[in-house]
Amino acid sequence: MKEDRTFREALLDLYANLDRDIAAANPVCNLSGRCCRFKEYGHTLFLSRSEANVLLEPGLPTKHIDENLCPFQINGLCTARERRPTGCRVYFCDPNYAGVGEVISERYMSRLKQLHNLFDVPWHYRTLHDFLHEHVTTGESSAENTPPDPHESIGQLGG
Ligand code: SF4
Repeated sequence: MKEDRTFREALLDLYANLDRDIAAANPVCNLSGRCCRFKEYGHTLFLSRSEANVLLEPGLPTKHIDENLCPFQINGLCTARERRPTGCRVYFCDPNYAGVGEVISERYMSRLKQLHNLFDVPWHYRTLHDFLHEHVTTGESSAENTPPDPHESIGQLGG
């Protein structure tokens, strides 16, 4: 089956499906903001270049990159909720959600890679701060990593 979604549209569809699965798992968020204070809470956010491109579409709220924080967290809240990547969507510190996020994350990482293959988009998976520094340095993504014509028809993503 063929369809005419762009890669970006397909990625946003994937995010919408992911959000539905997360909502079904019903984790609690108490707005602690710890998910976005990486060093303080000992975690690292990884994402694909295509996810970084969507996240960074409007640019950064600041040119100062703090290794401890995500620049999109302002006053304890995410200011990039519609564009945030898979890793942000699956992460909750709710102890009752322990283990569930990992299962959902694996499922969607597989789908995300499948999406890259379908659109022939190179898979570059790095830390958020790698992409942030690159964005500040170059002002845009490397040309070699620019996705191909997003209007090409593709097969439907399974799952
Ligand atoms: S994009 Fe939003 S949810 Fe993800 S780390 Fe940054 S502030 Fe947190």
